[in-house]
Amino acid sequence: MSDLVPPQWRRAMVSGRPRATVVPAQARAHNRAVLLSLLFHDGPASRADLARTTGLTRVTVSEIVGDLVAEGLVAELGLRPEGRVGKPAMMVGLRSSEHFVLALDLQSLPRIRAAVLDLGGTVVHQEVADLDGRTGDAALDAVEDLAARTLHGSGRTVVGTGVASPGVVDAHGVVRDSANLGWREVHLAQRLGARLGTGVHVANDADAAALAEFTYADASTSGFLLVAIGQGVGAGLVLDGNLVRGHGLAAGEIGHLTVNPRGPQCSCGRRGCLETYLGLPHLQAATAGRTASGRRTALREAGRRLGAVLAPVVAALNLEEVLLTGSDDLLDGPLLEATREFVAGACLPATSGTVRLRMARLGETAVLQGAAALVLSGEFGFS
Ligand SMILES: [Zn+2]
Repeated sequence: MSDLVPPQWRRAMVSGRPRATVVPAQARAHNRAVLLSLLFHDGPASRADLARTTGLTRVTVSEIVGDLVAEGLVAELGLRPEGRVGKPAMMVGLRSSEHFVLALDLQSLPRIRAAVLDLGGTVVHQEVADLDGRTGDAALDAVEDLAARTLHGSGRTVVGTGVASPGVVDAHGVVRDSANLGWREVHLAQRLGARLGTGVHVANDADAAALAEFTYADASTSGFLLVAIGQGVGAGLVLDGNLVRGHGLAAGEIGHLTVNPRGPQCSCGRRGCLETYLGLPHLQAATAGRTASGRRTALREAGRRLGAVLAPVVAALNLEEVLLTGSDDLLDGPLLEATREFVAGACLPATSGTVRLRMARLGETAVLQGAAALVLSGEFGFS
């Protein structure tokens, strides 16, 4: 028995804190996050169950659970029903439906969306606004107003605020660059925090969508890439339960990789970027009014281009899964098949034989839920 749980409880470590040296206060925070994560993902358990699963001592578990009960995050649910030998055990569970987060989805511009969700990811109140061409400071004001109106309208107290924003976002909640919003070096977490009076956690929208598949669906805990296909193409990468932002905060920016130097002109000024084959506007134009076989040919072409970009990533990282999100109608069929075939053909069986390529599970609330998951990670240390 030890006072520090083993690293395989990686769901508790998405916040990306260093793990090499652990002082007692950090160990306690780590263990608390691990217990919260277990209760969140696996449901109610007894203190003895928690000790057994984590390898922590009963004393440590009881102390932490006692704190969590006192804070109102965890409740005693009653004795476990009969059927086991020995004294019936008191079950404890996370009070997911009694605590709330505010989440903002700035992905689908010009529409912006805010919602209050419970910790389980269920939306309890939602409002939308239209930026109507506003960018820069005017867009920032609109985002702040929507957030404040939604929080007030929900009548709830929240444990924190999460924001999924397009563009490059750093770990301190600064939007370094978002062309569509006209933001450069916008201290979004600071600005929103001052207005709302909550902690604010910000990430890129594709990163948030990836985190949502990890937290609220069943995406791989060892490693997966989520490819978000909309007006542009972006990706979020989760490895060993950690969201990977990358050295220059641009991990997953695969949309402007050149897949054909003589290909179509791209909005970035170059030719033949992945986006010019895979972006929704291109897929819609390439399939509109075509015969079934013409449509299939166009979608398979896009699938092969995606496969060419994914194969080296899958091989280098030995990913367990690649998830696609966007329009099921366009992606889930010949396109996904062709991507699978390309990856299988390009990689050794050791990597291609174990990777699963599939559609993401969460629907149009994925980005909002990802913003909510940022709060779990930022405030409680798990997701
Ligand atoms: Zn480009």
